[in-house]
Amino acid sequence: MNAPQVSFEFFPPQSLEASFRLWDTVQVLSPLDPTFVSVTYGAGGTTRDLTRDAVATLHKSSGLNVAAHLTCVNATREETLGIAKEFAKAGVREIVALRGDAPKGQDRFTPVEGGFANSVELIEALSATGDFKIRVGAYPDRHPEAESTQADIDWLKAKLDAGASEAITQFFFEADTFFRFRDACVKAGITAPILPGILPIENWKGTRNFAKRCGTEIPQWLNDAFKTAERDGRSDLLATAICTELCSDLMGGGVDALHFYTLNRPELTRDVCHALGVTPKIDLQNVA
Ligand code: FAD
Repeated sequence: MNAPQVSFEFFPPQSLEASFRLWDTVQVLSPLDPTFVSVTYGAGGTTRDLTRDAVATLHKSSGLNVAAHLTCVNATREETLGIAKEFAKAGVREIVALRGDAPKGQDRFTPVEGGFANSVELIEALSATGDFKIRVGAYPDRHPEAESTQADIDWLKAKLDAGASEAITQFFFEADTFFRFRDACVKAGITAPILPGILPIENWKGTRNFAKRCGTEIPQWLNDAFKTAERDGRSDLLATAICTELCSDLMGGGVDALHFYTLNRPELTRDVCHALGVTPKIDLQNVA
C-alpha cells in the first residue's frame, strides 16, 4: 500500500507559550510534506484576528500551503468577506468555509443582521470572488442538527454545488462509519473528494466529551479499551495503535489522503504518520 497524503489542522495560539507550541508542532510535522495545513477559526468568531495573524505568519514563514477556516458567526457579510479579502491579500488561497456553531449561551445558530444565513450563502459569495479553493465540513455520524442522514448528505451536496471542491469530515471512530457515508455520498451524486478527518486521541475523557457534543458515536469497545489502558498507564500506546489501525483500515478501503486534527500536539500524529509510511522528506543536500 502506498503511503497516504496527509494534511494537518492547527488552532491559532492565544498566548506566547501557545505560539511556541504551534511553532514546535509545525517544525515536527512540516517535514512530512503535508498537502496543506489549516488553521481554525474560534467558536463564535472569537479568534478572528488570531486566525488571520497565524494564517499569514504560517503562510509567510513555513512555505506550507495554508488554508484558513472561516465561519458565518457573529459577523455581517461585509465583515466576513473583508476577512476573506485579507486572507487573499496575504497570499492565502484556500478556505475551509463553515457556518459555525452558536456562540456560548445560545442553543442554535442565528445569523446577525446582515450576516450569512448559512454555509451555502457563504460558499456562494466566496466562490464568486474567484480567489479561493473552498473546502467544507461533512458529517459521517450525521450532524446533530440534521433532520435525517439523507438531509445531511443533501445539504453537503448543496455546499459542493455552491462552489466548494472538497469536503473534510468530522472525526469518527470506525472506518465503516466513513465507508457507509462515502457510499451514501456517491449514491447522492457527490463526486468531490471527501477527506476523512482523523482525531488522534490525546486524552480519552476529553475526546469522549467532545464526541458527545458533536454527535459522534462512541463504540463501547473503545471506551472499554481506554478504561483498561488508563488503569495500566498505557493510554498513549493504545491511542497510537488505535489511530494507526483506523487509518490503515481507511487506506485498505481506498482512502489515499488523511486530515489530522493535531490539537497543536504533534507527537501522536507524527508517530501514526510514520507507522503509515509517511516519513520526513529530507533534502538530500542537507544530509550529505
Ligand atoms: P452546515 O453543514 O452548513 O450545517 C450543519 C448541518 O445542519 C448540516 O449538515 C445540515 O444537516 C444542517 N443544516 C444547516 N443549515 C441547513 C439548511 N438551511 N437546510 C438544511 N439543512 C441544514 N467550527 C468553528 O467554530 N471553527 C472552525 O474552525 C471549525 N472548523 C471545522 C472544520 C471541520 C472540517 C468540521 C467538520 C467542523 C468544523 N467546525 C468549526 C465545526 C462546525 O462549525 C460545526 O460543526 C457547525 O455546527 C456546522 O458547521 P458547517 O459549516 O459544517 O454547517
